[in-house]
Amino acid sequence: MRLIYFDHSATTPLDPRVRAAMEPLLADVFGNPSSLHTAGREARAAVDRARSQVAELLHAGPGEIVFVAGGTEADNLAIIGALSASGPPSGHLVVSAIEHPAVLATCEHLRRSGVAVTEVPPDADGILDPAAVAEAIRPDTRLISVMAANNVVGTLQPIAAIGAIARGHGVLFHTDAVQALGKVPIDVSTMHIDLLSMSAHKLHGPKGIGALFVRKGVALAPIVHGGGQERGLRSATENVAGIAGFGCAAAIASDGMASEATRLVALRDRILDTLASALPHAYLIGHRYKRLPGHICLGIAGYEGETIKLLLALDEAGIAVSTGSACSAHHAGEPSSILLAMGFDPIRARGSLRITLGRFNTDAEVDRFLELLPRAVAALRPLAHQAQLERSLC
Ligand code: PLP
Repeated sequence: MRLIYFDHSATTPLDPRVRAAMEPLLADVFGNPSSLHTAGREARAAVDRARSQVAELLHAGPGEIVFVAGGTEADNLAIIGALSASGPPSGHLVVSAIEHPAVLATCEHLRRSGVAVTEVPPDADGILDPAAVAEAIRPDTRLISVMAANNVVGTLQPIAAIGAIARGHGVLFHTDAVQALGKVPIDVSTMHIDLLSMSAHKLHGPKGIGALFVRKGVALAPIVHGGGQERGLRSATENVAGIAGFGCAAAIASDGMASEATRLVALRDRILDTLASALPHAYLIGHRYKRLPGHICLGIAGYEGETIKLLLALDEAGIAVSTGSACSAHHAGEPSSILLAMGFDPIRARGSLRITLGRFNTDAEVDRFLELLPRAVAALRPLAHQAQLERSLC
């Protein structure tokens, strides 16, 4: 049975073109980019090329890209680095209440050092009001951090408006663009972004590599100390194959972004339109249109406590989806903090099914899903069927 993979917000399969770009760097081109000999210079050239490819995706300069180990490290470097640029971390920062744990746990860490943090909640559609962000700014605010797209509900945030507010107040603006990168256009200049986090494995690149965009002139303290690679902002011998893979993934995403978004929106809307009649008690969580092209977050009224059973039933049938985010699998059964922040009551916040489509998904896979999901929901009730399902899931 071929796996139908609908969990692209958790991670994406490596694009074969990315793998081909990485292969020479895992074999013959093995030099250390800091070495002056030919082998080193070849590796350096691969890193430089990838730096330009990643920069192009954001309309940034190559000198503004710092390669790190992934989105989590990029978020840590942006937030801790900005707040520590002129001595021990201090001041105030503003974040959305629906950030990824890579941001919220970093804020919690800084709170223990005396940094004040204001969390701004979204509206019921999962979108922040830029005016609420403006209201949270204080004289000692050093940084605003608001994600470009939410990993659980898929909503797109008004980044350009928030960036303009930050710029107007002389406050640095960081956005976690891990979910948005390569799926929706990002321009760091017109959106007034000073710091932007990226992760290659969310756009058909390899795991364990990401980057932070650091606007020229923005002061940042490193969080990893050592030999001074990446302009002293991220010491460690570069993950050359990973970086080359990231560059290739960025170039592919950049070339096909508009047509791929149109294709994914059509698949997404077909799922939503069909479920509206096939599963009338299902409801979309998050704004209908201001969302990532391939992202659906589905609540099923009356079945919120049973989404894990649904996930397992779909998995048995060869379809991979998730409940909330992959990270929240560690907190299965607890209400989602994101849905609570959106104003859901604790019962409804317990369960959502996240269906996230990607580059290699087809119409036929969507057909199969649309056939199986209503059946899997029906199998949860009546009770006789439920007991049977539980036995098959044990
Ligand atoms: N930020 C967001 C919005 C994410 O969705 C993720 C991963 O799911 C991360 C950060 C962490 O990225 P990484 O897995 O590369 O550390």
